[in-house]
Amino acid sequence: MSWEDMGKRISRAKCACGEGYVEHSYDLYGDDWNRYENRNEKVEIVCPFCKVAYHIEGNYLVPNGLALKGYPPEHKFNFEFDEWLVATFSDDELTEILEDMKISKFSTRLSLTNSQYVVSQFGSRKLAKIIPVIEKCIANYTSFVWNKARVGKLKEIQHKTTRIITDINKIVYEKSYVLSFKSV
Ligand SMILES: [Zn+2]
Repeated sequence: MSWEDMGKRISRAKCACGEGYVEHSYDLYGDDWNRYENRNEKVEIVCPFCKVAYHIEGNYLVPNGLALKGYPPEHKFNFEFDEWLVATFSDDELTEILEDMKISKFSTRLSLTNSQYVVSQFGSRKLAKIIPVIEKCIANYTSFVWNKARVGKLKEIQHKTTRIITDINKIVYEKSYVLSFKSV
């Protein structure tokens, strides 16, 4: 039942200048249950020039001083239902939804897509339960931190950041060298 060393596996890719290579190596281990493990995994630039000029990121040789940027995780909100209402709709939109619910009386008769959306997020289709929550939200709209306008502003900043990172990465990819490994 013990792990057995099945030998070193080596693959190489031509380096950016073409005079050396990048070597990917690991020791393959297997057991009687056909489980396999790579141990002592290493990726190494074996070229005196590229070793100084580049570093490895994923499957790329990236010029030193440049780096591929990751995207920051989006801020996760844990909204209660009333907070979600204020974060998703303006007070005018909430007023429209409220009127629609009062006129329609039953969730099956709602005329606005927004009202139907609110019902789908509430967990009960009883308008009599939803209406007082919406009324409270409209009355206290300005006391909520994350209203629709602020959420929109945050999304705009995140969207701009994402675009800048995409642009930067495009340039870095252009200056980087793709490694294509072949086993030796
Ligand atoms: Zn090289």
